Amino acid sequence: RKQDEQTAEEMIHGILNGNRTILSKVITLIESSASRHQEQAQGILQELLPHSGKSVRIGITGVPGAGKSTFIEAFGRLLCDQGHRVAVMAVDPSSTVNGGSILGDKTRMEQLSRHPNAFIRPSPSGGTLGGVHRKTRESIIACEAAGFDVIIVETVGVGQSETIVRGMVDFFLLLALTGAGDELQGMKKGIMELVDAVVVNKADGDNIKSARKTMREFKQILHFLTPATSGWEPMALTCSAVTGDGIEEIWHMIDEFAKKTKSTNVFDQRRKTQVKEWLLSMIRDRLETSFYQDENIKELQPSIEAEVMNGTVFVQKAVDQLFSVFQSQQKKGQPQ
Ligand code: GDP
Repeated sequence: RKQDEQTAEEMIHGILNGNRTILSKVITLIESSASRHQEQAQGILQELLPHSGKSVRIGITGVPGAGKSTFIEAFGRLLCDQGHRVAVMAVDPSSTVNGGSILGDKTRMEQLSRHPNAFIRPSPSGGTLGGVHRKTRESIIACEAAGFDVIIVETVGVGQSETIVRGMVDFFLLLALTGAGDELQGMKKGIMELVDAVVVNKADGDNIKSARKTMREFKQILHFLTPATSGWEPMALTCSAVTGDGIEEIWHMIDEFAKKTKSTNVFDQRRKTQVKEWLLSMIRDRLETSFYQDENIKELQPSIEAEVMNGTVFVQKAVDQLFSVFQSQQKKGQPQ
């Protein structure tokens, strides 16, 4: 009942006024699996949509221990001190499987979380990665409507999570470690084709020289790949999240990226493509769910599966059988 203390109108008003407590409440509605909350969230998001979009969305990935939370804390504080409003979210593939977390508790970014210009949201746990995808995208809209002009989405390189985050941000950054000769070779090749920059972190103390060397190696690799963003040659830089060296340059780079891609329309075009892909993935999700939750499919599927496995029914025929049952139910206007 607690959520009902505020009407949808009050929540919309609160968000548009930048109220972080209300923003948190709305994101809780977005993340809830109760259909009543879902409905309420959708109503609110529809009203917030015209007020969203005016931000730079930055994705950050890297192996555990690369320094992502230390970096986001330093980077976020720099931006907040400059008057930006920074929202931090996470897509944590582990938390969707077992409720555990690779990214850990985001209260680690303690100083940033206390900054009046910052908003830090731990990753939603439970549900499918597709579900987390939807929740994060919707949360981005709510944060933007609340006036956050820099959105950071953190993830780790596990499974599909990097591709998913690439699909919801403007700029995608890989935070890497030094001495990575082996790491470079072992690194999933795919990731290098998704990034707009590689930043070698922990370039401090005795580590500076090898960090620069690793950076040059990354530069070479990037040079031979097709850029993730048309018209932007991916960059390699070093930084230290601890001393703060190089952090400001990273913001300059992202700012430059935004200016450049906006002037060529690549920025807007990507956002349009992203929202279309979001739509298509939601349709796929809903189709799949309604198919497998159909009572008749549930009843028929085990026996058809057995027949296919025995080799008595050909796969294509089995699919035809299942679909004719599914479609005839749809025509009867069966409630979902
Ligand atoms: P995450 O798992 O990617 O979020 O990594 P953390 O931010 O938790 O950092 C992992 C460890 O590396 C921590 O002990 C940090 O203090 C340390 N660390 C992070 N950034 C730097 C840096 O720039 N320089 C040094 N020397 N240590 C760092």
